[in-house]
Amino acid sequence: MDEGSGINLIKNSSRIVFLTGAGVSTASGIPDYRSMTGVYQGIEEPEYLLSHTCLMREPEKFYTFVKQLYHQTARPNIIHKKMKELESAHDVRIISQNIDGLHDQGESQHVVNFHGSLYDCYCMTCQKNVASEDYLISDIHENCGGRIRPNVVLYEEGLSSEAIETSIEWVEAADLIVIVGTSFKVYPFSGLIDYRNPNSQVLVINNEAITLHHPHEFIQESAETFFSQL
Ligand SMILES: [Zn+2]
Repeated sequence: MDEGSGINLIKNSSRIVFLTGAGVSTASGIPDYRSMTGVYQGIEEPEYLLSHTCLMREPEKFYTFVKQLYHQTARPNIIHKKMKELESAHDVRIISQNIDGLHDQGESQHVVNFHGSLYDCYCMTCQKNVASEDYLISDIHENCGGRIRPNVVLYEEGLSSEAIETSIEWVEAADLIVIVGTSFKVYPFSGLIDYRNPNSQVLVINNEAITLHHPHEFIQESAETFFSQL
């Protein structure tokens, strides 16, 4: 499908679900943290550093690593902004694999951070919420001496059932599902598409084709380029 047809498809849809991935954040200067050429290069296995085991057994190592994933100066880019703007004429829902909280920062109304957000932190001892700025200063909670962690889904941890249920509801109700900036390989996120209404349409905007066992339209383009035209 060409860019113009993709734009029309979005403009003519009423209930739109965006399924977003790392390609939506790169324009904000956030590297794809799953890419080995990114922040993982030259250090220990990310699957371990971002695991529940590492957090429990070697919390200092976990903390040192996770702090590198914060990009406090990153701001929403044209993609986040256009998705927000679409809310004025469409019912827009966003389900994101990104943990950078940029859709929230862009003030989109309906966002599920499927893998949690780095900017949502809490104390594991007293369960109180803690500002991410405070977590970046120390992972020890001043009030109780407990350890603070970000509310992101670590390796070995399960997803929030609320995130899953809300996401399924949204996908079922959508008349257009737009997969943006993701290779769509991470399960169960990629399994959400199985809940789509058979009458809905699926549009993929990505640099590379993705494997998808559902009929879909594909625009081979960076999300940034596409959304700039929208
Ligand atoms: Zn505490």
